[in-house]
Order: sequence, then C-alpha cells, then structure tokens
Amino acid sequence: MITSAAPPPSNGTASDSVVAVAWDARPGLSGLDPERLEAWFLAAGRPAYRARQLADAIWRRHAHDVTQLRPLPGDLRALLDREFRIDTLASTEVRAADGGLTEKALHVLGDSNVVESVLMHYPARAGRRERHTVCISSQVGCAVGCPFCATGELGFGRDLTTSEILDQVRWAARHVAVDGRRLTNVVFMGEGEPLLNLDRVLEAVRALADPLRFGLGVRHVTVSTSGVVPAIRRLTALGPQFTLAISLHAARDPLRDVLVPLNRRWPVSEVVAAARDHARATGRRVSYEYTMIGGVNDTDADAIALAELLRGDLAHVNLIPMNPVAHTPWTASPMAAIEAFAGRVRAAGLSVTIRRNRGQDIGAACGQLAAEHAGEPPPEVVAIRRERLVADSAAALRGERRRAAAAELPVALGLAGRPVPAGDRSP
Ligand code: SAH
Ligand code: SF4
Repeated sequence: MITSAAPPPSNGTASDSVVAVAWDARPGLSGLDPERLEAWFLAAGRPAYRARQLADAIWRRHAHDVTQLRPLPGDLRALLDREFRIDTLASTEVRAADGGLTEKALHVLGDSNVVESVLMHYPARAGRRERHTVCISSQVGCAVGCPFCATGELGFGRDLTTSEILDQVRWAARHVAVDGRRLTNVVFMGEGEPLLNLDRVLEAVRALADPLRFGLGVRHVTVSTSGVVPAIRRLTALGPQFTLAISLHAARDPLRDVLVPLNRRWPVSEVVAAARDHARATGRRVSYEYTMIGGVNDTDADAIALAELLRGDLAHVNLIPMNPVAHTPWTASPMAAIEAFAGRVRAAGLSVTIRRNRGQDIGAACGQLAAEHAGEPPPEVVAIRRERLVADSAAALRGERRRAAAAELPVALGLAGRPVPAGDRSP
C-alpha cells in the first residue's frame, strides 16, 4: 500500500541526481518466493499460472514498473501495483570510471535511504570469458565500524529487505542487458555486514540460484564477512551456499582489534577455526581478504603471522591495496611491499592474488560514494579520529591489546544504531 505519493519512476539506467523520495512502504515483489507468490494469486482468486507469468517478467525481463508486467491483464497489474513495489529502488544514479569498466550505482530506497552497488566489467582475455560482476549492499551503512572503511564511518542505518538486495542485482542485470550482456557474478561486498542480516541474505541467494528465478549458479555468488562466527557456523550446518570470503586484514589479535572491531568479540583464532571447518565441511575453498595498509599491517612479521595462521588450509588470500578514505591517516602499502608480502605468504604454500583497485576516481571502495553523499564529518572530528587511530595502531604494533569497553560491543554487533523503519521490514 502506498502511504503517501508514489515515488519517482525508476528508469533502469540513471536519474539526474540522488533525491529524497516520498515514503513507500509497499513490499517488493522480487523478495516473494514462488510459494508465497502463488498463494497471493490464489487468495486473489487468480489462476496459479499468472504467478509464473509474473515471475517471468520479474526475473527474465527484469521488469521495474507496472507497465512491463504484460501479459498480465490490466486489472491484475493495477492490483499488484497497489499492493507491491515492482522495484524497491526508487531511483538510481550511475557514475562511470576506468573508461567505463567500473560503474558505481547509488540507489535511493523507498524511505529515502541510499545504498550503493558497483558494477565491474572484465573483458575476455587469455581464454577466459568476459565477466560482469555486481558488488551489492546488504545493509544501509554498517555497525562493525572498521576504521579504514568508508561504510564503517557512516554507522548503521538498517537492514535491507530481501527485495532491496535482489533489486540491486536486477538493476545490474538490466543495465548490462542493454548491451546484450549477462551478469555473471554477484558479490556481497558493498555496504553492510551480510552475516548480520543473514536470513534475508540467504533468501536472496536462494532466489539468485533458483533456475526459475535469477538462475545464477551459487559458485558465482560470494559473500564477504568480517567474522560473525555463529553465523559462519550456521552456514556450515546448511551446507554449501556460496563462496565465503573472510575479511581478515590482520593475523594478530591486537592489530585486528583495531582494524576490525568485531575481533574483540570473536578473535582471529575463532574466526579462522570456523572458516576452516566450513571449508572442510563444504569442500569449498575460503577466500581471505587482506586490505594492505602502509606501515600498519604489511610488515614481514604480519606476513609470517598470516602464513602461520593459514598454513595447510583450503584457503586463498586476496591482497587489496587500501583505497584512500578521508577520515583515516592511512594509505595503501607501496606495490613493492605488497609483492614482498605476497611472496612470503606464497612460500607457506598458500595461493595469493593481488587485487587491482577499481574505480578509485569515483570512490568505488566499499561505501565511499554513499559516504560522500552523507557528507564528511567536521574537520575537528576527523582530526580526533585520526589521532586515535595512530595511537591505537601504534599500540597494536607494540603488541598491546586494548580491551573493548563493554559499551562498545553492542555497536559492533549491530545492536545499536538508527531505528529500522517499521514499514520497510517486509520483502
Ligand atoms: N562487511 C563485509 C562486506 C563488505 S566490505 C566485510 O567486511 O567483509 C567488502 C570488502 O571491502 C571487505 O574485505 C573490506 O575490508 C574491504 N574494504 C573496505 N574498505 C576498504 C578500503 N578503504 N580499501 C580497500 N578495501 C576496503
Ligand atoms: Fe562493515 Fe565490512 Fe566496512 Fe568493516 S569493512 S565497516 S564490516 S562494511
């Protein structure tokens, strides 16, 4: 049901700018699974095959407004439009970089919150087919608060609904389809901690993998986590769902406490033990993400600690030069340091890649564009944060472990933050 005026129509490609939209609390259609959709049609006195026609419009033709729901009859389209949003992204602004190989999309949601996704195009090369990967968000902002991450600076807004997660993928699929291309990979590496919104992320992955819906193999889906151990264990019990990536960034607790505050709740050893069990139980290699921060986590001692930690595991290490983020005193490690680090880790028998940063000029690091949209904090706040980070990371390098004040943990666990709007809790 529309609670106020209808939002501006989304055109599937770009709008002029990010604008506030009128509140729209109708649930999204893409988040309804086939059973619930069929039940709705039967309850409305319509035959079940209409549900399949609707699914075809949503998933094969990526419909984003009601006029695209043909061949459904007009009265049924009008009824659906009253009850549901065909697309939960009210409008989208796109910025391109890397000569068009990277596109950052800023999506305005039905309650005027804004989230980002990043579309990366990889041309065919050396016998590899071309790929089109979308990096999507699972929450507005993030409660974990990693200091090198622009999303961490935003703080936590709310969980995304299943439809809002899926509509980012449908937007990307529609965007690449204009050039006759197909989306090949989905990674949950945008805003938010996916394992703190696990039920909806799982529902979304099911829809992506379902041959009657998006139809993407689960091997083409990667979910990245900062290390929510109980959720990793829950995934292991469910069996292979998708490729799991762990954001490690440090192999030693004192430093990881600073870089990934969730480490104070679930330390490195517990995170890696859960990931190791996951790899063994599912037979799927776990990826470890390691953002390289100059002079902070790129020393020989860090490389040796990482090699020791993962030696013998079914694991892959991805080294990512840090994208600059305004409120930190840090920058990326020099390439020579990254290569030396990679060499040391490889010497322990682990597979290592160095990921080239995409779209730096449009701030395509995790959460950066949304952070720009939110506005930078005042200079005095930035100065205090920088000072604290310098002191904390220096103490960590000396091996001192700062215990979190009890009050900080609820923030890291996503239990604090801005309230979730009640109207937007549905699919
Ligand atoms: N919250 C999840 C997923 C989103 S972040 C997680 O942390 O895993 C996706 C990846 O981007 C993470 O590995 C994160 O550490 C990395 N990242 C965040 N800020 C970055 C920056 N400034 N430079 C490079 N990588 C960054
Ligand atoms: Fe959250 Fe991931 Fe950013 Fe950390 S790196 S603040 S977990 S989005």
